[in-house]
Amino acid sequence: MKKVAFYTLGCKLNFSETSTITRQFESRGYKKVDFNDSPDIFIINTCSVTANADKKCRKVVKEAKKISPDGYVAIIGCYAQLKPKEISNIPGVDAVLGASEKFRLLDLLGTFVKPAQPEVLVQEVTNADTFAHSHSMGDRTRTFLKVQDGCNYNCSFCTIPLARGKSRSDSIENIIASAHKIGQTEVKEVVLTGVNIGDFGIQEGRRKERFIDLVKALDEVDGLERIRISSIEPNLLSNDVIAFTAQSKRFVPHFHIPLQSGSNKILKAMRRRYERGLYVDRVNKIKELMPHCCIGVDVIVGFPGETEEDFLDTYNFLNELDISYLHVFTYSERANTHALEIKSVVPKEERAKRSKMLHILSDKKRRYFYEQQLGKEYTVLFEKDINEGQMEGFTENYVRVTAKYDPLLINELKKVRLSHINDQMLAEVEDVEEYVTH
Ligand code: SF4
Repeated sequence: MKKVAFYTLGCKLNFSETSTITRQFESRGYKKVDFNDSPDIFIINTCSVTANADKKCRKVVKEAKKISPDGYVAIIGCYAQLKPKEISNIPGVDAVLGASEKFRLLDLLGTFVKPAQPEVLVQEVTNADTFAHSHSMGDRTRTFLKVQDGCNYNCSFCTIPLARGKSRSDSIENIIASAHKIGQTEVKEVVLTGVNIGDFGIQEGRRKERFIDLVKALDEVDGLERIRISSIEPNLLSNDVIAFTAQSKRFVPHFHIPLQSGSNKILKAMRRRYERGLYVDRVNKIKELMPHCCIGVDVIVGFPGETEEDFLDTYNFLNELDISYLHVFTYSERANTHALEIKSVVPKEERAKRSKMLHILSDKKRRYFYEQQLGKEYTVLFEKDINEGQMEGFTENYVRVTAKYDPLLINELKKVRLSHINDQMLAEVEDVEEYVTH
């Protein structure tokens, strides 16, 4: 029995896809092992968004060769689609597969005999036009369920459309069938995953279904305790979706909404499809219907042309806004993106300074949001990792909670009252009820 190991860089989508490819291997008789358990085959699923994608990929390949010098190394994922030639030149790489090849890896690579020269099986990204179903497995607590792939937007900083192709989705019927299967397992939380999930519903190039109808259908699936919408573009987060979430049985009060900049000038240069006024409307609508809702925000600092004044515009805008935390990204140049045409580049030290300021603001926002929740009752889903005798979990509105480890509570939903916030910015709790579900 050949042994195969996986390494995944990047986002939830990559994790769900690695999980699906793992199941393909297992169904053909391969044994999945840990990376350092002398595998015969290494599959490395790469990311193009990660800074230093190239360096990271090289490092993982080097590590693989140290562990199994004769092991077969195949590289898949966004970076493989964007830079196949560059990757095939990394010493130790045997195969590079693109976006439309990665799910046919077993058929394309046959018996994994090491070739004299690396095999590069990467077609144009326009060929990546079919939807490949995926969901992650192996974690009892939650699963990432892929409902959509690709993107038809053309944000000027982003390479994802070049790496993953056009927007396409699974059908509601297929997703509900998967959700029913997940509902029969121990998994308690489903995270809807995609590149641009608000754009859900395009099949074979035509819009056939709508995101709100997917949300309504999933809400009826018995056995799913919690459903989280991972990230949704502000212009696609409709009042319908917000209002439905507010009264939903299963969708939790948590949205992650990319903003990217609080300056209209920069939003325009980024080719985003909204102005900041729309973002304010979204946040106000959410808070009107769900005052306890957690709202996470993606922001990019140091985009070309972002002056000190533009940055302060963003900073002040976020400071005023009723949001709960930030994910801060420092702009970095990507080949073949329109942003490279903008000449006024922000020096690296300035980008780092702005990033630091927003990280501090994020901590302040999170603490304030957590403080608003103290004294209230929420349900925590405890996870398996233990840290110095403590277990951790999240409330439905994404407050991170810590409690003394109790094996009986792992992967259980438990009602608690948030009592105070500790030095590590974790909420401590008082018991309210015995187990809610088993
Ligand atoms: S919406 Fe913009 S940033 Fe998001 S994947 Fe599409 S092009 Fe990239």
